[in-house]
Amino acid sequence: MEMILKISNLNDFIFCPASIYYHGMYEDVERNVYQEKAQLAGTFAHKTVDKGKYSTRKDILQGIEVYSERYKIQGKIDIYEGNTKTLIERKNKITTIYDGYIFQIYAQYYGMTEMGYEIEKLKIYSFSDNKTYPIKLPDDDLEMKKKFENLFEAINTFELSEFRQNNIEKCKRCIYAPLCVQGGENVNGV
Ligand code: SF4
Repeated sequence: MEMILKISNLNDFIFCPASIYYHGMYEDVERNVYQEKAQLAGTFAHKTVDKGKYSTRKDILQGIEVYSERYKIQGKIDIYEGNTKTLIERKNKITTIYDGYIFQIYAQYYGMTEMGYEIEKLKIYSFSDNKTYPIKLPDDDLEMKKKFENLFEAINTFELSEFRQNNIEKCKRCIYAPLCVQGGENVNGV
């Protein structure tokens, strides 16, 4: 399938490819009905940005929409510091830098640079312990860039009708389980 993705879809797809289809179905529903506590904590980490409270400094952009034509992906950045040309993604608590975190900031990076912004540094920031993790630019980490591109290839060739999730544990903690027909046995009583 070829479609315009949301940046948040990347993590969903890594967790379970079927979930990006169900993600859209829940979008209009009140968030706290379906989101688990951990996800809500992550949402909280972005709250100050979404409400524009982070800074009134003119050299800082926050929460702007970006779109990459190259990857057909859209979403919001977290923070861009113009004076240092740094793109920053904040998380509530980071224990590991998962590939999904890096792909998320890569997608923001491509969206911004295609829109004409200069970016020299990428960082992921962990709120709870005040730690900052520098991330190499895609062209400085070709292995990770390849993984990023492979992910899009996997998304664009994925066939929902042929997919069945065999990891029942994922389905048990998946917020889309009540609706999903790709889930493993017993999740929905089927
Ligand atoms: S219920 Fe299972 S198959 Fe369905 S989206 Fe969730 S993890 Fe994937």
